[in-house]
Amino acid sequence: MISREELRQLACFECRDDNELAISFYFHPGVPQDKSHREEGILAKDLVGKTLRELRLHTRNRQAVDDLEKILRMAEELHGNQARAKAIFACGARNLWQEFDLPPVASPTKLFVNRRFHLRPLAAVFSEHPRLWVALVDRQSARFLEIQFEQLRELNTFTSPLSRHGRSDGYAGYNAGHAERHVEDEVRRHFRNVAEFLKAAAERRQFEALVIGCQDVNWPVLEQQLHPYVVKRLLGHFSAEIGGMTQEMALSQARSIVSDALQQHHQTLVREAIEGARSKGRGVTGLRRVLRAAELGEVECIIMTPEYSARAVECTNCGHLDSHTVPYSPACGRKTRELSDVCEALVPTAIRNNIR
Ligand SMILES: [Zn+2]
Repeated sequence: MISREELRQLACFECRDDNELAISFYFHPGVPQDKSHREEGILAKDLVGKTLRELRLHTRNRQAVDDLEKILRMAEELHGNQARAKAIFACGARNLWQEFDLPPVASPTKLFVNRRFHLRPLAAVFSEHPRLWVALVDRQSARFLEIQFEQLRELNTFTSPLSRHGRSDGYAGYNAGHAERHVEDEVRRHFRNVAEFLKAAAERRQFEALVIGCQDVNWPVLEQQLHPYVVKRLLGHFSAEIGGMTQEMALSQARSIVSDALQQHHQTLVREAIEGARSKGRGVTGLRRVLRAAELGEVECIIMTPEYSARAVECTNCGHLDSHTVPYSPACGRKTRELSDVCEALVPTAIRNNIR
């Protein structure tokens, strides 16, 4: 799986001249139950083969042809026996070849040959798959799981066993009430430990999103102890007995909470951006205004549909992007080059500048 740093490095890559070509290949394995693996393999092969023929006709770029031939051989192997989605980024002239496994939702099978790598499907992968922790908590113990993409890792378990004093229900009568209060104190202390642990992890940025599983009766007490940093990352909680909770059960509960939370988050973002644009507040709409705001460093998040595409030009000197296809840069007067899709330049810029 790709890391943010690797994505960033790909976003920094740009061909220096026509002798260099940046090749991006996405392979999607298809849905297992409809036996379309085979078809996807054939589709991938056809796609690469066609581009290869065009490239052989139009350029003498031997290294790019080599890259595509290597991808074609891989596509032939993918034919039928590949369950995982994959991305390959190559530029032979710069000695660059990188392969990554991807979550299957990332992109359909596609090939791009351009000046930069095609990173839009990957930019979305990070916003759709936050580094997630699941905390499973009961009155004495806590388990922490980390989920990044398809990978699940058991992180840590700790127990705060009730003291002898706390466990004892004392002599029937005057001591019982005291012992009960004592138990409640110890449980609260345990929850405080859990909350401290989560706070420290949030400060170290070990997770971006958090889901908590615990018994419903314990939730209000636990919730009270959580630090505001942690609450900010908390997507929701579910009802769980941690003893009987397998990793798979925890994963499926957490996924459903994350998916609801993301959907809600997207709706909120869209609403805020549109309202912001209407009231001349925190939001703009339309390519021209978005490009301008991005250039001024005012953009925190760009919202677009997966299919969005628009023609634009970029300045060969200062990198200014313009939705009007003007021959000279309005920013510095130098020549522009046409982009068949503005996202080719906009997405790498967003990744480099930590724009969501
Ligand atoms: Zn310029």
